[in-house]
Amino acid sequence: MSKIVELLPSWLPSLRTRFVLLVAGLFVALSLVMIMVASYLDLRDEEQRVVSDARAIVATVSRLAVPHLSNHHYLILEQELESIAASGVVELAQVLDPARALTVDSDPETSYFDEQDMHPLVKLAYETGVEQIRQDQDRVEIALPVRDMKNDSLLGVAMVSMQRPSIDGMLVSIWARNLVITLVLLVFCVPVTFHFATNFVRPIKALTETAHTVSAGNFNAPFPVERTDEIGVLARAYREMVGTIRNNLAKIHELAFEDPVTKLPNRECFRQHFTNHMIGPGGKPNRMSVLFIDLDRFKRINDSFGHDHGDALLCEIAARLCGLLNPSSCSCGNTEGTGPIVQNVLERPSAVPPQVARLGGDEFAVIVPASGRASAVDQLAEQLVQCVEQPVEINGLTMAVGASIGVATYPDDGEDYTAILKHADIAMYAAKRTGGNRACFYSEIEDEFRGQERVTLEVELKQALVRDEFRIEFQPKVDCETMKVVGAEVLVRWQHPQRGLLAPGSFIDVAEESDLITRLGDTVLEMACRQGRRWLDDGLEVPLAVNVSIRQLEKPGFTQHVLNILRTTRFPAELLQLEVTETVAMADPESVSAATEPLLAAGITFAIDDFGTGYSSLAHLQRLPFNTFKIDRSFVCGLGSDQHSRSIVKTIIAMAKSLKYEVVAEGVETVEQKEFLTGQGCTTAQGFLFAKPMPPEIFAGWMKAFSDPVRHHPGAQGNRRGRTEHAA
Ligand code: C2E
Ligand code: CA
Ligand code: CA
Repeated sequence: MSKIVELLPSWLPSLRTRFVLLVAGLFVALSLVMIMVASYLDLRDEEQRVVSDARAIVATVSRLAVPHLSNHHYLILEQELESIAASGVVELAQVLDPARALTVDSDPETSYFDEQDMHPLVKLAYETGVEQIRQDQDRVEIALPVRDMKNDSLLGVAMVSMQRPSIDGMLVSIWARNLVITLVLLVFCVPVTFHFATNFVRPIKALTETAHTVSAGNFNAPFPVERTDEIGVLARAYREMVGTIRNNLAKIHELAFEDPVTKLPNRECFRQHFTNHMIGPGGKPNRMSVLFIDLDRFKRINDSFGHDHGDALLCEIAARLCGLLNPSSCSCGNTEGTGPIVQNVLERPSAVPPQVARLGGDEFAVIVPASGRASAVDQLAEQLVQCVEQPVEINGLTMAVGASIGVATYPDDGEDYTAILKHADIAMYAAKRTGGNRACFYSEIEDEFRGQERVTLEVELKQALVRDEFRIEFQPKVDCETMKVVGAEVLVRWQHPQRGLLAPGSFIDVAEESDLITRLGDTVLEMACRQGRRWLDDGLEVPLAVNVSIRQLEKPGFTQHVLNILRTTRFPAELLQLEVTETVAMADPESVSAATEPLLAAGITFAIDDFGTGYSSLAHLQRLPFNTFKIDRSFVCGLGSDQHSRSIVKTIIAMAKSLKYEVVAEGVETVEQKEFLTGQGCTTAQGFLFAKPMPPEIFAGWMKAFSDPVRHHPGAQGNRRGRTEHAA
């Protein structure tokens, strides 16, 4: 049986057929049982009917016999019995008159004159005076005493013998009847069952179809079943299950393809996007450019403010990049739209939808079609640099980073994703090494940059320290009122054996990441103090401002080290100022305070560099040992056009006045800027308007010439070019 149940599904795969067959089978089985029960009951009824018929007839015979026996009318009785038997209902009717010892019967062959044996049943009835009955398979015999009711005397015995009808015949007719009923019911029941089964199976079928759609990957397929019964419960359970799977898949997709911080597509998604669009219609490669974006100075913000602020900054940059391209390029889907900017820079619609991704750390990447004008990507890169450069405000703190962008174009600069990304990375490094905050195209960078990887820079930096390849330059600070040089900022340069003089933007970040910055910082400080001493010995007093990194400040023994350098170089502490960026100073005021106290005591002063880009609460400021603000270049640069920058600069200067701080404005390039600053009460200015950073041998001569009262000062006369050209 269990074997059959096991095999059933393979024989009858359809639930509906199985259901119909089951109902029909049950119906037939039930009918069979019913036929059997009916046959039994019918047979029993038939038997009883024969007995009661025989009884009725014997009673009639007995009643008929009473007058005939009393009056000895045997012939009439005989005729009457014969006519009863002639009807065919009884086989034999008999009446015994014991008084005369004669038997009258319905058999026409015999006569009441014949000597006949007394039937044993008749004899028994006569002797007992009660009805006697005998039945066998073929017949029923009943003997009933004949009584005269008037005097209650026993006149004789009447007997009837009746043939039973054949059982086989009876059974055939019973079965035939019941079978016909069963067949009629079956003809009615099978279509009805089929109809119900079809209705029953329909929602299951709908569920099955939805399941197929879902398994084909469409998790939004609607569930057409709305019922309150078990199938409804099943549908709801199913819907919930699919919902859970869909959410899980979305989660998996998110984990696999989305950057958790910025919600931008991640590296893998970016790779897929690139490879999916490499080949265009007709098997031709789709021209597209990859812009590899690395943030400048991000490390500083992360180190100083912690990762929360770093993450918030990354999100803001991500939003800006997306906004510049178009909103739909910021998801990992197959976005075919192009935003306003990209549309502008493209001449015709392209097969490559733009995408922005975060590759990790402070690295972003953009894919744009390169099928339009060659200058289009150029223009976009320029816009990307500008949009990253704008200061970011997070929790009331203003921070500024830059972007170094490397561009490589497929298929010109590489034949696959790996080559393109590597070349974009190399181009980005070329951008960083040449000062950062700009874009470089792989096709345009010098041969010496090609093949350069990030790691080699670190190795080269180490060698540079050993080989003494670092130089320092001096950029003057000028008193806004008197136009006298009041000092100089010391800025490091790397005299690279192959690539020439490199600006700090191209290596400071790597130096900070690898901790080489402490050795580099010490070297710069020592060189600066030595040069300052040399000038003093030549009768030229130049107060020097040296940049100090957070890593130097954190390093145990920093204070002592600075004092040692001052002692060995014999440079007066009062002429030395250390510049610490605002973000660094504010991140950990206590430790900055502890590190700087002994230096302050020795006479060294401190300046907050890049002021305005970080958060400075007045309370914190007052506890710190600074006496100079250096207003960040980004605000000075915006003075001409940007009302916001003007308000910030005004506020900083007002705040500095009230705290009795000196204010140095960095990056002054125009007379208008200088005049605005002077008007607001800024004490000192530094920038290309006066001079670019100069090597020491030029600086001394420049300073003498600048202080010469006969010469015209750019700030006073508006002769903007004269000095800077000289310096450059
Ligand atoms: P910073 O301390 O803000 O230095 C000022 C930067 O602005 C210098 O760039 C200077 O050349 C540039 N600059 C000055 N005036 C103008 C101007 O009118 N227009 C423009 N466009 N730029 C102007 P530089 O020399 O490339 O230095 C970049 C940064 O590198 C510095 O920014 C400083 O943070 C860092 N740095 C330089 N030398 C050292 C060093 O010895 N140690 C450490 N830790 N950092 C250094
Ligand atoms: Ca500085
Ligand atoms: Ca600065």
